[in-house]
Amino acid sequence: MKPCIFFFVFLSSSLLFSQDHSHQSNGALSFPDVPGYKTLTTDFHQHTVFSDGSVWPNIRIMEALRDDLDAVSMTEHLEYQPHIKDIPHPDRNRAYEIALAEAKNHELMVIAGSEITRDAPVGHSNAIFITDANKLIHDKAEDAFAAAKEQGAFVFWNHPAWYPQNPNGNPKLSDFQKERIKNGELHGIEVINDGDYAEEALALALEQNLTIMGTSDIHGLIDWHFKEEGHSRPITLVLAKERSKASIKEALFAGRTVAVFDDLMVGKAENLNPLLKASVQIESATYINNTSVLQVKLKNNTSCDLLFENEMPYTFYSNAPVFTLKAKSSTTLQIKTLEQKEVLTLKLKALRAYVAPKVHPVIEWQVNVKSN
Ligand SMILES: [Zn+2]
Ligand SMILES: [Zn+2]
Repeated sequence: MKPCIFFFVFLSSSLLFSQDHSHQSNGALSFPDVPGYKTLTTDFHQHTVFSDGSVWPNIRIMEALRDDLDAVSMTEHLEYQPHIKDIPHPDRNRAYEIALAEAKNHELMVIAGSEITRDAPVGHSNAIFITDANKLIHDKAEDAFAAAKEQGAFVFWNHPAWYPQNPNGNPKLSDFQKERIKNGELHGIEVINDGDYAEEALALALEQNLTIMGTSDIHGLIDWHFKEEGHSRPITLVLAKERSKASIKEALFAGRTVAVFDDLMVGKAENLNPLLKASVQIESATYINNTSVLQVKLKNNTSCDLLFENEMPYTFYSNAPVFTLKAKSSTTLQIKTLEQKEVLTLKLKALRAYVAPKVHPVIEWQVNVKSN
């Protein structure tokens, strides 16, 4: 018997170790795939000691693993290097290389990036999918953007509403940036940066057809800055054909993203609507005996609490017309359909989601009623 028990203990402990290697915490971020695309969680704006951040790049990877992200980027300021005397690094690719090595045994994808850092009217922009950060260092900002384009980079405007550069907190697209967009050198815009959702940035994204981004821009620790303050880290959901770097790049250039911060979701209707539709699953639908009160059980497949308002001609029994579908939980609506139906269109407005400034998406689901 003894060797058998020993073997069993050995086997189960090694299984435990392999599970532990996922590093996931309870706050892992998760969203369902949508038809045709994988929904990948990403944070493409982060700092380490290789610019003005406070941590070594390996910590950024450990944080991302705890949040179960699919892809990240270290985006050090090329032109702002407050730690350079303590940490000299003539090769500006070091943060990326260290992060890449840390992520080696994990599925987390690390994308090379840098933050091109200038005063207004140029502002700050992240170039990701670069091949060499050193070649992005130029006196003239025009040359930095041209070099990023030469490397095939995806470039987005960071914190466009940042008041040190826009004192009224409203982003203003400069002539320099208009020129970059025209040249195919600026492709996206942060609509969510850190805790700030800027409606004006969303308006600009739609007007200029820029890809909508949401990023943490973390300098300290994700846990201290967001989680201990009761927040989730801001992320960009990328709707990618496959789970690969090439697919993420293709999706970013094609604009298939949704920015998320806590329970707020911001995206173009063609991306956000299918995501919300996939986020809610109809688990069952049956009438209460001899009544026309339909009980519909809904499941929220995301790590966000979803706030909905009833948009149907029918009212609810025992539910307020505005209700929360808690993250990863089920809730049952009682809908007064006035007569028993075989099929019902459930129609809800997502009150914490935006497809344009002040515009909430309205989502429909077909509910097939199970006869009693
Ligand atoms: Zn910046
Ligand atoms: Zn930054």
